[in-house]
Amino acid sequence: ISLYPQDGQDASELIRNADAAMYESKRRGRNSLNFYTEAFTAVATNRLQMETRLRRAVEHDEFTLHYQPMVNLATGQIVALEALVRLKTPAGSDATLPSIGPGEFIPVMEETGMIVALGEWVLHEACRQGKAWLDAGLHFGRIAVNLSPSEVRRGGVIERLSRILRDTGLPPEHLEIEITESGLMESGTSAEQFLLMLYQLGVSLSIDDFGTGYSSLAYLKRFPVHQLKIDRSFIQDTPGNVSDCQLVSTMISMAHGLHMAVVAEGVELTEQADFLAELGCDMVQGYLYSRSVPA
Ligand code: C2E
Ligand code: CA
Ligand code: CA
Repeated sequence: ISLYPQDGQDASELIRNADAAMYESKRRGRNSLNFYTEAFTAVATNRLQMETRLRRAVEHDEFTLHYQPMVNLATGQIVALEALVRLKTPAGSDATLPSIGPGEFIPVMEETGMIVALGEWVLHEACRQGKAWLDAGLHFGRIAVNLSPSEVRRGGVIERLSRILRDTGLPPEHLEIEITESGLMESGTSAEQFLLMLYQLGVSLSIDDFGTGYSSLAYLKRFPVHQLKIDRSFIQDTPGNVSDCQLVSTMISMAHGLHMAVVAEGVELTEQADFLAELGCDMVQGYLYSRSVPA
């Protein structure tokens, strides 16, 4: 809502300010109403600037991938890498521009549909790099690529994936897709079809941020899930917090009972690694081993 005369002198200013108020209502979880205040313009302007910057980045190829190793807890060897997208600071641009991470820009890209172009670029770049490493005789196990639920919903991922595997020559057994459990649930029946085709392509599937989504465990027996990644929030207070220890232990037993491998995310301390080793956790990932680094 914006009101004449305090919020604008003409129709276009009133509409623009009503739009800023509407954006704020959406941000507060929709189904709410807001009167325009000047603070909303700042929020809307920031958001618009971010969108413009991202659009530019998509057009000018300003993304890059960093990789974070997953380590086999028993042998200490790197058995997989997770590809994590970064926004490059374009040459000659304003150095004071705040750097934004994927946690911030991925949701905007999902909302605007730019995620499809980004997702395709990420997959292609990860597969290309993986093939280059294999050709150089470097063994990294598998490369894990994050897939956004909205990419699955929008469709066409399998077609893109098989084309990219063919074009880059990366053998599918070296590729792993990470998707969150809520992502799977939201994708509805199309998810089932999607996962089956993924399986037929020979690509493995990993459930990301396991334990944080609202979902039914039934999908674990229905879908060909190869691995669970226990969310960092469960790991962070181990081994001090008794309930977290119990939950982690239960998740590991459940995964093993269902013949799935388990990765613990966000391992930062040796005490956490020791605790996870005792429970028989297969793999670990986190700052204790390495941050995400360029290829
Ligand atoms: P995620 O998939 O859960 O990725 C793990 C995040 O945890 C990464 O943040 C990683 O840098 C961070 N991390 C790893 N080890 C530790 C640790 O020991 N301690 C702490 N505090 N953090 C750790 P990042 O790179 O900022 O990515 C954030 C999220 O953005 C990712 O969460 C993922 O959901 C999304 N994302 C990143 N790259 C892509 C992509 O290419 N496509 C899509 N769709 N999403 C992506
Ligand atoms: Ca992930
Ligand atoms: Ca995760």
